[in-house]
Amino acid sequence: MEINKTVTCIVCPKGCRIDVKVKNGEIVSIQNYDCKRGLEYAKNEVLDPRRILTTTLKLSGGRVLPVRTKDPIPKKLLKKAMLELKDVVITPPVKVGDIVAKNVVGTGIDLISTGNAK
Ligand code: SF4
Repeated sequence: MEINKTVTCIVCPKGCRIDVKVKNGEIVSIQNYDCKRGLEYAKNEVLDPRRILTTTLKLSGGRVLPVRTKDPIPKKLLKKAMLELKDVVITPPVKVGDIVAKNVVGTGIDLISTGNAK
């Protein structure tokens, strides 16, 4: 089975619309990219789409802490990760860059703080 997909590259503001043809689960052609970074983005977006998860965690005392995954995680695991993290409560002090949760949904990728809390 052959599938044609158009991926809008988000690597730079130019926003190239890259055409990807997939046959039997494998990429057979990629067209309309303007650079190698876009080529890699389109490949990954079709075969293994990933996103940085940004959210907030509860802090003991009622406030919230902004956090993100250190690297992108598979897009299909974002919802599962949100469910896993919804009841996590962090005890201050925490500073920017501290790991607040390890190995989010078994990805091997950690969650880091993007804020400070005393
Ligand atoms: S393909 Fe290259 S030039 Fe086009 S949007 Fe992506 S990064 Fe920018």
